[in-house]
Amino acid sequence: MDLTKHAFFEGKIVPLGEAKINIATHGFLYGTAVFSGMRAYWNSEKKSLYLFRPYDHFRRLLESGRMMAMEIPYDEEGLIQLCIDLLKLDNYQQDVYLRPTIYKADMGIGVRLHNLRDELSIFTSPFEQYVTNDTNAHVTISSWRRVDDNMIPARSKVAGAYVNSALAKTDANRAGFDEALVLNSDGHISEGSAMNVFMVRNGVIYTPPITDNILEGITRRSVMEVAQKEFGLEIVERSIDRTEILIADEVFLTGSAAQIVAVTKIDHRSIGGGVMGPVTARLREFYEDIVRGRTSKYAAWNVEVK
Ligand code: PMP
Repeated sequence: MDLTKHAFFEGKIVPLGEAKINIATHGFLYGTAVFSGMRAYWNSEKKSLYLFRPYDHFRRLLESGRMMAMEIPYDEEGLIQLCIDLLKLDNYQQDVYLRPTIYKADMGIGVRLHNLRDELSIFTSPFEQYVTNDTNAHVTISSWRRVDDNMIPARSKVAGAYVNSALAKTDANRAGFDEALVLNSDGHISEGSAMNVFMVRNGVIYTPPITDNILEGITRRSVMEVAQKEFGLEIVERSIDRTEILIADEVFLTGSAAQIVAVTKIDHRSIGGGVMGPVTARLREFYEDIVRGRTSKYAAWNVEVK
């Protein structure tokens, strides 16, 4: 972490090194924070930085906050402007990750959501690849089950819920896999540790519905639109069985950090011959052009930092 970069903290912009919370802060003690993970992409030809779908990210952040009884004095536009101010101040000319967080900021003991002050923080960091093996990932079906919506809201990016993701990810990595696929309590595929999942069978794309304890991914939504509109592919949202994904022609994962990850092996079984399939490859290429602001048709998804 470069502590000289800038952050938004307690209502103002400060060097990241000064953006410190107390150890008695509620959000730290109980995981009562919601966050967003978003990217800005550098376009070296245009010498411009583009935030990818920030409006969607902030709408989801504010919705996550609503589920957690949080309120901040900013709307989507105000939050986007704060990000632009931070990115400009640090004069980024490379890809960036942004982490806005709303957290219960009061200090003291007492598990609850009400009668607590909410604060907003944002920091940024240079960022490249998230899953190193993103052209031929080997994933495992995790023994950890996905949080259920009646336990911790799965469609909200609640900090505390990421214990679930961390358990799945670490056990998968320590067992030699690149990623984990996590099942719901009913045994259907939910998603990866921090990414949504898709499979291609007989030319149709399938992905679990938003009622299967998934995070309503913004990359997921983007990929669905592109696959339908640009490639004319049918997308079906329905539950996916554990064994069905093993015999898919292609499997890929999507996320703001992960982008589009080709899964070529699940628990030592090759998917689609063990190499990235054509749908995944085309989507990866198309996505890369969109996020870097090279596709005028999708320019509305990019907010230029200027
Ligand atoms: N699921 C989980 C649990 C995640 O943390 C993420 C990353 N935000 C995703 C899915 C993918 O969502 P998005 O495409 O909006 O980044």
